[in-house]
Amino acid sequence: MVKMIDSEKIAKLLLSGARMTDKHCEKCSYPLFEKDGRIFCINCDTETKEDIIKEKIEFLYKKLKNTENVEEIEKIARAIETLKKIRKL
Ligand SMILES: [Zn+2]
Repeated sequence: MVKMIDSEKIAKLLLSGARMTDKHCEKCSYPLFEKDGRIFCINCDTETKEDIIKEKIEFLYKKLKNTENVEEIEKIARAIETLKKIRKL
């Protein structure tokens, strides 16, 4: 199904420093955008995923700062690593 491209979203992205690439999304065939070396599809909402992950990483760092329990530090550190990996996908 082909939907109309959200021109307002595109304008915001371009203003934020993103640029349109000549590639298209494999899932929805929207043009792909590139920002900070990351290519994403505005329709599949990778940007939203990015925001969620960023928020969780910040939360984990705060938790890490406040704990002195070694097991918990290890757990949090692993969680942060996992989130960072997901973010790159
Ligand atoms: Zn897509």
